[in-house]
Formats: sequence, structure tokens, C-alpha cells
Amino acid sequence: MDRQQASSLAAAYAADNEPSAVPSGSANTDPSVAAATPPTAPAGEPQPTQASVSRRALLGTGLAGAACAVLTSRNPAASEFAETVTDAPVEYIIVGSGAGGGPLACNLALAGYKVMLFEAGGANDAEDIAAVPFFSGFTTEDDRISWDYYVRHYADTAQQQRSSQYLPDKDGIWYPRVGSLGGCTVHSFMVDIYPSESDWDGIARLTGDPSWSAENMRGHFQQLERCRYVTRSPLNPSRHGFNGWQPTEMSDHTVYADDPQIPPILRAAAREARDSRFSLSKLLAGALDPNDWRLRHDRDGIYDIPLLTSNGRRYGPRQFIQETAARLPEKLIVMTHRLVTRVLFEGDRAVGVEYLRGSHLYRADPNAKGVATPSTRKSVRASREVILAAGSFNTPQLLKLSGIGPRDELDNFGIRTIVDLPGVGRNLQDRYEIGVVTEFNEPFTFAAACRPGQQVDPCFSQWLNGSGPYTGYGDVAGILHTSPTQRRDGRPNADLLISVALTRFKGYYPGYSVKDLAAPDAHNKLTWLILKAHTRNRAGTVTLRSRDPRDTPVINFHYFEEGTDQEGNDLNSLVDAIQFSRRINARLTGISSGDNWPGPDVRTRAQIAQWVRDEAWGHHASCSCRMGAADDPKAVVDSRFRVRGTRGLRIVDASVFPRIPGYFILMPIYMISQKAAGEIIRDARAADRYASSAEVAGAL
Ligand SMILES: Cc1cc2nc3c(=O)[nH]c(=O)nc-3n(C[C@H](O)[C@H](O)[C@H](O)COP(=O)(O)OP(=O)(O)OC[C@H]3O[C@@H](n4cnc5c(N)ncnc54)[C@H](O)[C@@H]3O)c2cc1C
Repeated sequence: MDRQQASSLAAAYAADNEPSAVPSGSANTDPSVAAATPPTAPAGEPQPTQASVSRRALLGTGLAGAACAVLTSRNPAASEFAETVTDAPVEYIIVGSGAGGGPLACNLALAGYKVMLFEAGGANDAEDIAAVPFFSGFTTEDDRISWDYYVRHYADTAQQQRSSQYLPDKDGIWYPRVGSLGGCTVHSFMVDIYPSESDWDGIARLTGDPSWSAENMRGHFQQLERCRYVTRSPLNPSRHGFNGWQPTEMSDHTVYADDPQIPPILRAAAREARDSRFSLSKLLAGALDPNDWRLRHDRDGIYDIPLLTSNGRRYGPRQFIQETAARLPEKLIVMTHRLVTRVLFEGDRAVGVEYLRGSHLYRADPNAKGVATPSTRKSVRASREVILAAGSFNTPQLLKLSGIGPRDELDNFGIRTIVDLPGVGRNLQDRYEIGVVTEFNEPFTFAAACRPGQQVDPCFSQWLNGSGPYTGYGDVAGILHTSPTQRRDGRPNADLLISVALTRFKGYYPGYSVKDLAAPDAHNKLTWLILKAHTRNRAGTVTLRSRDPRDTPVINFHYFEEGTDQEGNDLNSLVDAIQFSRRINARLTGISSGDNWPGPDVRTRAQIAQWVRDEAWGHHASCSCRMGAADDPKAVVDSRFRVRGTRGLRIVDASVFPRIPGYFILMPIYMISQKAAGEIIRDARAADRYASSAEVAGAL
């Protein structure tokens, strides 16, 4: 989204920018009144009603010239965090407030420890638009929170340039991230799919640490989840959690019930997927749950897609942090607009961090141009540990800037090596995704009544009450499917997740949310959005561009043949998936003219494979500081998140996975964050016991 465009539209809609525009009883400007107003979701949860609601248009969508109506939160806890720090040490410093670091900071503070959470971005930016799931696409392009990376999929320039998403002036492909409180969870599509048993059992085997077993990890999931879509029963056979910090819900599927094109599409998908369990009425009732523990050995079939929302509104680490910091201001100190530049060591022990204070400092931020580097670097000490959670691109960058990484690379930039760890910034992985855009004879009706940006928008009013199309992003269903390639290989898990998305989605490129998702001619489009899980390529790299901490690193994923999947299994599975989607389309000839992306010219397996090489993308970057066994020279952390060769330093984010887990990565990251909190607290208690017994011994 263009910020200027946003502001001028906001001004144009100024008359609409009053609390009175909100249906009475839904919201209130006065927090004390809001607290007394019965919430629409269970007590104890953050409510849209707690926010002051004002409406303003934020952007032109291209959707009949409309702009989006959005909600602005004025929760006092959500304003920028004040400078509360002194040089007094805290117990833990956490760098990065995203999926890994945010919940960890809260859990440590709730356990009674003093935590300082560093975040390069602001505290509540773009919450007006981010709150609404239907506007997720716009959120990914909102330059108040964006961190734009430009990555290579290939070192081979000729192959790279074949992509329609390749940007010559950037020499790469746009990879959206977030630099703001909550990290990438703030612009994610909130999809919540439980990973596979093999993901966890694999780590247990690799590291020899049985606490990573799938059985044990389900316990962490149950601790963190607050499931809203399954009725709680005493035996809890689905093994959901009901008291955790992260609410999970199904979006309002009744919005699809009246569209005559939906039933034939889903029935055709069920037939092609040979899903005998499927029932349309169950799907529309939000009762097909892919995260039910009983399905863990065979998940092939059609499901609803659970979302990480509370009463239809985005809920994630940002909200968890805001609430925890408001409740425990002495325990959780949130340092927004602080770019950490390196970890400070005394010998091999991490003792604190050095940072720059200011907005828009990191050069992935589109507003960084012209921002001067602050003349002084500040530092803070941690009495117990420093924990990096800056994400798969920034954590390896920070480690290297701190002297932890491959000696050769550090030497090239004149950085003194503290620990020669060749695995830092290696093993970078991602999924492959690709969309088959299919044209239907009639527009889909689920959002036909919506008037985004207009004074009266029935969908916005519905959303304020937790229902209607804005509670989702046009996600009718997801198909978990085992490709023939995967079957031949004898692997146990469904390796494809094909989402049924009612729009056109060809991947991420600047402007895609307006040009594709919200384009007027997208209303009769359905995208079979294919996601290849458990990819085998481990060849991606994150290397330093310079020793300036404001610079982005150089990122190359080395897709397909350039990477480590020499047998071509990933590519073959994706070709299988496109053929599978087209077989569904073939059952729909009465209502659809088939796909126009890739379109009829891409027919043979070889042609499809080349098209996939050219157009596939990913958005679950991970594994760049991987976990491993004690004797593994390429391992960066051990099974307890501790950085090898150092003391007092851990990593808790997407970078520690040895192999990319499951289908969507947020829930696996939340689970490791939950596990890490337990490990860290156990170590703290052991250290305290040791210290007090030493004191007693000294006194004797
Ligand atoms: C467009 C998009 C949509 C997505 N949708 C989904 C989805 O629907 N479901 C799903 O499961 N996954 C989704 N993901 C993936 C998921 O959001 C991320 O993989 C996940 O958030 C990564 O978590 P993390 O903790 O590793 O890093 P992040 O969440 O990226 O957090 C890192 C944080 O560290 C901060 N930081 C970095 N460097 C510094 C520094 N030097 N100093 C201070 N702060 C720093 C950053 O500002 C950021 O806030 C999506 C990703 C994208 C890009």
C-alpha cells in the first residue's frame, strides 16, 4: 500500500472518522466504559469492544474505486512504549517480538522474570487494517510495518529472470516481512495448521532429545491454544488446548452457504481427493478440523482452515505482549524502535546487547531512505541470558555481526570471530507455493454485499460482531493431499496443502493486493493455492552484505535443481498438484472455463515443471541457524536452543528448525517458543538453587 494514498483517502473520509459511525454497543472510546461493557467474546480476551472504534478509509483497493473501512485501536496499552529503561540490568533480553520472541517474553515475564524485549519497529502500527482478516493482503503491503527484502531464488541469473515477479532494479523477488511489534504475525494470513508427527520425532531422533517427541510436543500446543471451535469434553480426544494465550477459531463459513457455485466446487474436490468423510454441511458449520489429534496418522481430505483470531479479529503475539506489558510493567519492558546491532560478550558469555534508537533504521523498511544513523550506540546488560528471535534473515545476520559465524565470512568483513560456527546462515529453507487461477462463469457472492471504505458497510458492521466475510480472507477450505511422488517415496505425510481461495493469487509482488486480490475482475476467480510441505531443499543462504547493521543481508534460496533435492521430488510433487487441481477443474466444465494461470499453453509435465521453476514462491523462510546433535559441526543450537560454543545465548525463532516443519509455520514456532520458555525457566531455577546452596556452603 502507498502510504500517501492512504493518508489522502483517510482525509477524504474524515467525516467518517468518528466513533458514532460504529454500531452502538460494539465499541466505546472510553476504556473504563469499555471495560464495563459486556464483551462479545469470552471474558478475559481482548475485545474489539475495548478499542475505540473509528472508521477511516486507508487505501484504494481498485475494487470499484472503493477504499477499505478499518478499525483503529486506541487501547492505551497499545500506544508506543515509553522509554522506561535505565542501565540497570534485566534478567533476560529478547531481540525480536515475532512468533518466537513475543510469546517467550510474555511467558518469562508471567513466570516472574524481568524481561526486556527489543523490537526494531513500532508498537501498534497498522493495527487499524491488520485487525481485519479480510484485509490481510493489504496489510502485507502496508509501509507503516513493512520490511521489504529482495531475495534470489536462483544464483543462475537467466533462470531468475524468467520469473514474472523478478524486479530488475532490485535484482530479486520481493519477500514481504514485518518490522513491528508482533513481527510477521501482524501481516500473516493467520492460518493455523498443526504440523506432522514426523516433524517433531525427526528432531528428537536428530538431537537424541526425547522431549521433542510428537507426543510431548502436543502438550506444548495444548498449553498455548485457546480453542474456540471445538466443544470441550472431559476426555478431550481431539487434544486441543482451551486455556492458552492464543485463540483459534474458524472463520464464518455461513457466508459461502448461498453461493450456488460453492457446492459443486467442493464436491468435485472431494471426489478428486477421494474424501469419503467430506460433508458440505459439516464444512459450512466449521466442523472439519485438520488439527484434531485423532487424525494425525492420516490427514488426507478436505478441511476448514482454523485461524489465529479472537472473535473474528487478528490476535497474536502483538496483543499478548500489549496485555502482558500492561499487566506487568515491571516485568516486561518493551523497547520499540530499537535496532539491536550486536550481542555483547565477555569471553564466551553473552552479557547484553548494543542497539541504535530510532524509527525506520533498518534498510528493509521502505521509510528508511534518508534516515540518518544515530551517532551513539547504547547498550543494556542481561544478568541471565540474551535470546535472539529476530527471524530467519535477521538472527543469522545479528550472530555474524556479533562474531558468531563462519570465520571466512567474518574475516572478509573485518569482524573478530568469537565462535567459528560454519552453520550460521546456511540450511535456509522455505516451502514452494504456486497458484492455479481458475475462471468461473459467475462472480462469487460471499462478499458481494461488502462496501469497503464506504460509510455504510454491512460487512464491517458484521465483523465488529465477530461474523461475516471479513472474519476470513476468502478461504473456503483446504485440501490435505499426498502426491503420487510422495507415495512412491513411501513418506507418511500428506505433502500438499491446497487452499481454495476465492480470488486471484499469483504470488507476492509489489502491488499484488490491489492488482490481483482486490481487482474487479478477480470476483469470478478461484485460486487452487498449492503449498508443498516438507520440502527437501536445504541449500538456501543468508550472508552479510556489509558490516553495517542497518543493511539487509544477501538471501538466496537456490530453488530446485540448484539446491539439494537432486531427485526433483519437490518439483514433481508440485507438478502432481497442478494436475490434481486441473482434474478438479475438469469436473466443473459447466460452471468454469478452466485455469488462465498457468493457462492452456502450459500442458505437458515438462512445460508445467518449467513454469513451476519460474513462478513458484515461498513465505515461510526458516532453518538458517539450525538445531543439531552435539557432534554436528553445522549445528548452530543444541536441542535446548543454546548457541554452541557460547554461554548465556539462545535462539528461539523460525531459524532453529533443522527441517521446515508442517504446512504453515506459525503454530510450530509458537510450540517451540512455549517449549523454550520451559527450558529457560528450568535452567533459571537450577541456577538459583545452585547459587543458594553455594551461599549456604559458604556460610558454613
Ligand atoms: C505474507 C506472509 C503471510 C504469512 N502467513 C502465515 C500464515 O497464515 N500462517 C503461518 O503459519 N505462517 C504465516 N507466515 C509465516 C510467519 O508469519 C513467519 O514465518 C513467522 O512470523 C516467523 O516468526 P519469527 O519469530 O521467526 O520472526 P518474525 O515473526 O519475523 O519476528 C522477528 C521480529 O524481530 C524484529 N527484529 C529483527 N531484527 C531486529 C533487530 N536487529 N533488532 C530489533 N528487532 C529486530 C523484527 O522487526 C520482527 O518483529 C506468513 C509470512 C508472510 C511473509
